[in-house]
Amino acid sequence: MRVYPTFLLSATAATHFPPPSVPEIAFLGRSNVGKSSLLNALLGSKQAHVSSTPGRTRAINFFSITDSPVRQQPQMYFTDLPGYGYAKISKSVSAEWPKFIEPYLEKRKTLALCLCLVDSNIPPQGSDLQLINFLKSVDRPFLVVGTKADRLSSNGRAKSLIALRRGLETEDLLFCSAKTGAGLKELWQAIFQRAGE
Ligand code: GDP
Repeated sequence: MRVYPTFLLSATAATHFPPPSVPEIAFLGRSNVGKSSLLNALLGSKQAHVSSTPGRTRAINFFSITDSPVRQQPQMYFTDLPGYGYAKISKSVSAEWPKFIEPYLEKRKTLALCLCLVDSNIPPQGSDLQLINFLKSVDRPFLVVGTKADRLSSNGRAKSLIALRRGLETEDLLFCSAKTGAGLKELWQAIFQRAGE
């Protein structure tokens, strides 16, 4: 899958968002889950490292995506949200987030799919479940993406699948690896399916 991504803007308030126009795919996860690596693997570039520069980590970073080098209009936006889970004990995901993030997830008309990244090598985390419960409560479509799947044996993968499904209370889950590229095709399919609806 070849796409042409462009970094669009970094929003630290709702007033900075681009006007809702094309479907948006949000990338969410605890810090260190492998979000930048996955974005870079999907986009075939080092785009996401832009978002790691100071000042942008508490922002929603918008990327414009098209599958043609000559097309003027983007087909979709990717939105890279701040990582959560820094604090060992956090009352809620939103307590750690800037105030404009929750309304974005709840109200943004063009938000087509939330990709909830979880590390497939560790047990399901409370903060991930909180996020998923929040997305369910606002009826937002989501898909859990188990990252760093290259580190799992096939037996470990089967166990992780059961643990994540049970712990995160969802069947919608796929594994991928930014390192080997495994699962990226399936992830693109899920993205395009949602973006095309
Ligand atoms: P972020 O904080 O969520 O953006 O996470 P990064 O993309 O910076 O990755 C965090 C760490 O996990 C880094 O040391 C990466 O090298 C490692 N990592 C990320 N993706 C993968 C993967 O698919 N496989 C393996 N084995 N390591 C990964």
